[in-house]
Amino acid sequence: RNGLSVCNRFESTAAASDACNPPAEKYEYQAEVSRLMDLIVNSLYSNKEVFLRELISNASDALDKLRFLSVTEADLLKDAVDLDIRIHTDQDNGMITITDTGIGMTRQELVDCLGTIAQSGTAKFLTALKESKDAGTDSNLIGQFGVGFYSSFLVSDRVVVSTKSPKSDKQYVWEGESNSSSYTIREETDPENLIPRGTRLTLYLKRDDKGFAHPERIQRLVKNYSQFVSFPIYTWQEKG
Ligand code: ADP
Ligand code: MG
Repeated sequence: RNGLSVCNRFESTAAASDACNPPAEKYEYQAEVSRLMDLIVNSLYSNKEVFLRELISNASDALDKLRFLSVTEADLLKDAVDLDIRIHTDQDNGMITITDTGIGMTRQELVDCLGTIAQSGTAKFLTALKESKDAGTDSNLIGQFGVGFYSSFLVSDRVVVSTKSPKSDKQYVWEGESNSSSYTIREETDPENLIPRGTRLTLYLKRDDKGFAHPERIQRLVKNYSQFVSFPIYTWQEKG
């Protein structure tokens, strides 16, 4: 089974391995992901702001999946929260959070979707990368194909994904760092972090990229991307 079947298909059956959930388990990335991460972290790619487009598009996809599946499984909407995307900036701490109320991920989906190369765009990127020998083209390829979720590491040292699928009664936390070949998954236990449904991504911005937490900068980027998204996107900022 490859990542594609699990991540890109509208799948509604619960993952069997949801039953076992030891705390903070460590996982190694698939080799291709490690290569991709290395490249993202070490490239001199200048158009880093694409991270927001990728993350908004994932949030929008997750909301679309929920809406689509709820046509036949009305139960999925039992947690009566609006279908929207919320972006919160905290300039003082150099953090951005992006929260959606979409389909979320089970523990197994976290492993399959954020530990392996799931998406066709990223797979094409790697093929193109194999064919190019020139380091200068690498960074062009990032923009050309998009690197999906992993583009968060263009601007972040650490990324935390807390997610609740309506198929699971538990919320899980995926945590990865830009300089590591492994990531961890644990159950969310802090009541303050519990969400009714969906996914919250927290980006801990790199020292040189903290400017992305500037509210006006985010609002400008959101305005550019939101025209392609059919769900409301709200932005707000931490008071300094
Ligand atoms: P793509 O969006 O092209 O599939 P990504 O790297 O952007 O590739 O994301 C990989 C997978 O991770 C997605 O297919 C999806 O299954 C999962 N995913 C990412 N973000 C979210 C989210 N906000 N909610 C639910 N699933 C997500
Ligand atoms: Mg994507």
